[in-house]
Amino acid sequence: MRHEDLATCVSCGLCLNDCPTYRVLGDEADSPRGRIQLIRGLIAETAAPSTTTRDHLEACLVCRACETACPSLVPFGRIMEGAREVLREREDRTFAGSVGRAALDTVAHRGRLALFSRMTDLSRRLGLLRIARALGGRLAWAASLAPAREGRSFEGTDRPGADLALFAGCIMRESFGDTERATVRLLERQGDTVTTPEEQTCCGALHAHAGEGQRARELARYNVDAFAGSDAKIVVNAAGCGAHLKAYGELLADDPAWAERAKAFAARVRDVSGNASGRSLGRFCKRSRASRSSRSPTPSAAAAAPASTT
Ligand code: SF4
Ligand code: SF4
Repeated sequence: MRHEDLATCVSCGLCLNDCPTYRVLGDEADSPRGRIQLIRGLIAETAAPSTTTRDHLEACLVCRACETACPSLVPFGRIMEGAREVLREREDRTFAGSVGRAALDTVAHRGRLALFSRMTDLSRRLGLLRIARALGGRLAWAASLAPAREGRSFEGTDRPGADLALFAGCIMRESFGDTERATVRLLERQGDTVTTPEEQTCCGALHAHAGEGQRARELARYNVDAFAGSDAKIVVNAAGCGAHLKAYGELLADDPAWAERAKAFAARVRDVSGNASGRSLGRFCKRSRASRSSRSPTPSAAAAAPASTT
């Protein structure tokens, strides 16, 4: 937690209407300005925070919508990640906390995540997720987060000397294989060769948001190493991962052995929509539309089709 970050907030309140939790809950303590006040109080003491303070800080989505609204450029995401680390350090170890840490660890282990993703998919097909949602409570909440699997998982190719390097991510790679393959096709159609470094892992954004800062920094070091040996741009198709990868320089700024490498890594990160040329995006969208319309009947053909007798 950097004290100078907290000092940048001048309590003007211009961020309030951009904060989803403030708009829904209508409580100053659930606004960016209110949370910054709570964090100032949190770090001024060494005691465990009250349940009320913890609840207001945990309710933040770390969406960073307040950052773009703030005229003082308050780095709210960084402040909240630091505050969550303080919360984790001061809370008692509970069973629920251990389950949460195990879930985060699963995301960062490819084999475990693949198994979990297949089991979730099977549960969906058997209707078990629907039952879990009907039961309510935390089980229903967890079931509602499970992504529907999109095609088979993505297997990238490690190609030394390629023009671009794909950051495949963790859940994206397991559950959104079709999107990953489409991303590679799009980049190759604009004439670039694409490599997917095998040693890469989860970006660590979920860990940082949950206050597991040490693990988040560990994952950042893995990725900096995995993409070393080339200065090819690192393309990412998940905006949340991209935002976190671009912040690796700040994340490892206090680690003299990694600070420079992390900064250089962050400078190479590009969102796929920013990297693909407008021409190739237009061509790709046109082909996707054409292939979609060749698969589904046109409105006039559908109207002309005989009505179902079942
Ligand atoms: S976070 Fe920014 S916009 Fe919000 S109260 Fe502080 S200075 Fe104003
Ligand atoms: S990060 Fe999002 S939810 Fe949290 S205070 Fe800012 S706008 Fe609100």
